[in-house]
Amino acid sequence: INANFSPYYDKRGEVEGVVVVLQDITEQKKLDDMRKEFVANVSHELRTPLTTVKSYTETLLDGAMEDAEIAQEFLGIINSEADRMAFLVRDLLQLTRFDNKQVRLDITKIEMNEFLSMTVRQNKIHAEAKHQTLTFEPYEHEVVVFGDRDRVGQVVNNIVTNAIKYSLEQASIRIFITEEEQFYKIHVKDTGMGITREDLPRIFERFYRVDKARSRAMGGTGLGLAIAKEIMESHGGKLTAESEYGKGTTMIMWFPKERPILEYEREEQKA
Ligand code: ADP
Repeated sequence: INANFSPYYDKRGEVEGVVVVLQDITEQKKLDDMRKEFVANVSHELRTPLTTVKSYTETLLDGAMEDAEIAQEFLGIINSEADRMAFLVRDLLQLTRFDNKQVRLDITKIEMNEFLSMTVRQNKIHAEAKHQTLTFEPYEHEVVVFGDRDRVGQVVNNIVTNAIKYSLEQASIRIFITEEEQFYKIHVKDTGMGITREDLPRIFERFYRVDKARSRAMGGTGLGLAIAKEIMESHGGKLTAESEYGKGTTMIMWFPKERPILEYEREEQKA
C-alpha cells in the first residue's frame, strides 16, 4: 500500500485537516516483477547460446581450423546455436505483436476433419521415428471452425510436437473432436510423462518448463504454449490442459461454433 498525506488550510492559513490517499500497489508490483523476470529470462536464454558460439569461434581462430574434421563439427554447433537464437527472437517478436494487439487474423472456414487428417499425415514421420503411434479419429459430422489456417496449424503442430517430445517410445497420441455447448473441442491425448498438479497451471507461462535442460536439448524455446494460448484466445477460444503425472497429458483447443467477433474488430467498430 502506498500512502500520501497532504494538509489543507482554512482561510487564515491554519491547518484544518489532512487528505490521505491510499493506493493499492500490489497489482502494479506484480506486473513490475513479471516484467523484470521476463527480461531476465530473455537475457539468460540469449546469453547461453552466445557463450557457446563465442567459445567455439575462438577455438577455431586459435588454430582448430587446421583440422578440417574438427572445423566441420564446430561450425555445425555454431550453426545450430545461431538457429536457436533465431527461433527465440522469432517467438519473442510474435508474442510482442500479440501484446501490442498488432495481430490481424485471416479468418476463413476450416473443416477440421480434413485439416487434422492433413496435419497428422505431416507429423506421422516424427512420431514413427520414436516408434509412437499418432492417430486422428474423424468426427461423425463436419466440423467447421473459423480460423486463420496458418495460426491454427501452428497451434496444432506445437501441441502434437510436444506430445511426441514429452512421450517415450511406444507411446500413443490420439487426436479426436468432441463438442460442448457452443464450442468444438480438439483433444490431443498422449500417454507420455504427464505433468504434476503443481506444474500444470504454469505450462502456459512464458519460459516455464518443467525440465529446462531437457526442453532446451530438444530445441524448445519455452514459449510455444504461451503463443498457442494467445492464438486460441485471439480466435475467441481457449487452450486448456489435463494431465496425470506418469500417465499422460491431454491438451484441448476450444473453438467457438459461431464466427466470433474478434477483439480488434470490436475495437474498430467502436472507433
Ligand atoms: P518447450 O519449448 O519447452 O516445449 P512449451 O511452451 O511448448 O515449451 O511447453 C512448456 C512446457 O510444458 C514444456 O517444457 C514441458 O515441460 C511441458 N509440456 C508441454 N506439453 C507437454 C506434454 N504433452 N507432456 C508433458 N509435458 C508437456
